Order: sequence, then C-alpha cells, then structure tokens
Amino acid sequence: MLIVKKFGGSSVADKDKIFNVARRCMEDYEKGHQVVVVLSAMGKTTDGLIAKAHEIDPNPPKRELDMLLVTGEQVSVSLMAMAFHVLGVPAISLNAAQVAMRTTSAYGTAKLKRINTERIRHELENRKIVIITGFQGINKYEDMTTLGRGGSDTTAVALAAALHADACEIYTDVDGVYTADPHLVPNARKLSEVSYDEMLEFASLGAKVLHNRSVEMAKKYGVQLVVLSSLTRAEGTVVKEGAKMERMLVSGVAVDKNTARISVIGVKNEPGIAFKIFNILARNHVNVDIIIQSVGREDRKDISFTVARTDLLEAMTLLNENKAAITAQDITCEEGVAKVSIIGAGMLSNPGVAAKMFEALYSANVNIKMIATSEIRITVLIDEADANRAVRTVHDAFDLAD
Ligand code: ASP
Ligand code: MG
Repeated sequence: MLIVKKFGGSSVADKDKIFNVARRCMEDYEKGHQVVVVLSAMGKTTDGLIAKAHEIDPNPPKRELDMLLVTGEQVSVSLMAMAFHVLGVPAISLNAAQVAMRTTSAYGTAKLKRINTERIRHELENRKIVIITGFQGINKYEDMTTLGRGGSDTTAVALAAALHADACEIYTDVDGVYTADPHLVPNARKLSEVSYDEMLEFASLGAKVLHNRSVEMAKKYGVQLVVLSSLTRAEGTVVKEGAKMERMLVSGVAVDKNTARISVIGVKNEPGIAFKIFNILARNHVNVDIIIQSVGREDRKDISFTVARTDLLEAMTLLNENKAAITAQDITCEEGVAKVSIIGAGMLSNPGVAAKMFEALYSANVNIKMIATSEIRITVLIDEADANRAVRTVHDAFDLAD
C-alpha cells in the first residue's frame, strides 16, 4: 500500500512529538507499505514568522512573506528526516521545489496545478520514507509560494491524488469530526463517517478540522480521507462520498462567531441595487453570507447580510463610500452575533428538520435574526451571547449526544 500521512503543527511541535510521529510512520513502513509524510511547520511557527515580518514591515510584499513562511515547513521536514535517521529508517525530506509542486503565481493564496511524482516514486522504490513540506509550492517564476493558512492538508490530498495513494490520513490534535465542538458540548459524539459535502459545510462554519480546499480537492479526485489524532489510537472520521450517515437526519451542529450583520436601509426599490451593493463587496474580496431582502414598501426596501467580523470594517467603509450610488438612507451593523447551523445530508428531503431546530431555539428562548438554508444546512443568525446555549439545545433536540 502507498499511504500519505499528514501531520499538523501541533503533532510536530517539539522533539518528543517529532519522534512520536516518526515511530508511528515506522509502523507502516515496517509492514512493507510505502510511506509519504506531509508536515506542517512546528507548533505556532507560522504565526511567529508572520509576527516577525510585521515587526519589520506592517505590509510586507507577498513574495517576500512567502519566502519567509516556507521556512517553517522546511524546518519540520528536515528534523523529521533526522529523527528517522536516529531510528535507523531510511528517509529523505523534499521541499516543494524539489518535487515540482507547481502552483498559480498568487503568493499567499496559490493553488496547486500539478506535481511531478517521479522523484517521490523513485525514493519510495528505494524503500525510503519520503517527507514532504506541506503548504509550499513553486510558481512559473520559480518562486516559492504558499497555499494559504492551513494549506498543508491540501498538499497531502494533492499528493494522495497524484500518487494514487491507497490511503490519505490527516493527523491533528482532535481525533475526528464531532457532532459539535466537544469543548462546548461535552457529550458530543465522534462521527465515524461524513460526506465531502457535509465536511465542506462544517469547515466553512468554523469547524477548522480540515482546510476547505483539501476537501474540495478530495471530492474532485475521489480521495478518501481519514481524520485522526497523532496522540491517541482512537479510530478517526472517514470523509468520503455519500457516507452512510448512520441514518441521521442531522450530522452535527456548528457555530461561527466570526460573523457580523450589515443592513443597508431604505434603498430604492428598483432593479440593479443588489447588484451594486454586492459587486462593490465582491470586487474587494469581501465574502457575503446570509442575505435577506425585505419586501419593498412603497419605493424603498432594506437589504441585510452577514460578513466575517474580520471584514466588517472594510465592508462598512466601502458601503459608506458608495452610500449615494447604492441609494441607501442608512447603513447599520451589529457585531455581537453568531451563526448556528445544523448540517446533514439526511435533511435533503425531510421537511420537519427546520421546524425542529426552530422549536428547540424557541424553547431556549433564543431569538432568530436571520435564516439561511442550503440543501444540507440550516443556519440561523442569533445573538452571540445565546450561541453556546443554542448549540447545546439544538444538539439535544436532534439526539446527537453519545
Ligand atoms: N504552517 C501553515 C499554517 O500554519 C500551513 C499548515 O499548517 O497547514 O497555516
Ligand atoms: Mg491544519
């Protein structure tokens, strides 16, 4: 078997953890498997490097920032190779340039295009464990790029696809995907399986177990993933197409507190206004989530939507600059809000699900400000102060507990 094993920063944070990872990889190697290891930078290294950059230059050139950030992964792969050396296992570390991990040219948000697997295959055939830097790429100018925060997951999936790996294991500090954040809901249950689409919803709602693009790529290339802990031997969560869902309507409850509401009040009730508002935001890369437009009264209407709280200031500035063009009488915003969502492929054809969620919120006296739905998700916007209670109540209502 060819196995790709990816370990996040917390799994390689210090010497003992590096040896722990090396030993776990050795087990597979000694069974005769071919082992490719993808690593993130140690612990909070990437955060530290970004902070260092900002000490020198608050707005560093993106190319130079990537030159700096790629060093984090370079450190972990070389140290890992040394650990294997000590353990007497043949291993070699390779960075993105050495395996021609080609990406688009956008520094900081590069997308993988293709990988030359020749070198990797050659080393594997020589019975070496191959350790590859996550997160990095190389663009057409032969410059180093990075795939965006958390991008090592995507490196691992891309390698698994390119090498037609038999397994792709993503090791983190949680041992799988849960029905809710176990810190918030102590009796949350680990899911044995989750579908790609559900995983994408979980990830986009702040359950940061996997990098979103890694799940998209896994879905596209049919790479089955397992999310596991590097510290325990517990069985992880399998992410795959059309998982059986254990016949559950709802697979989990997610909360996202990085959210804020904006209302554009009293715009003209005529064609083109929504286009103008959202075009201004889109041009400036501000992502918009739940959108509600009121029914027009006389010649005016209101449009409300949510943005990431980290984008609020920029969004408000842009809208205020364009207040006349978008015919707004007033623009208001609110920060202390949160999104609570239920996710489940099983809700597709089940009309009662939304009502059940709203009933649970009503029983907990939680007021709903906005509602949005997709085929496999129902999201409500509520006061942030109610969020944790709402998650627990909804989790209970759908009997998700252990
Ligand atoms: N080291 C990078 C980060 O911290 C990439 C990763 O960990 O996946 O974002
Ligand atoms: Mg990660």
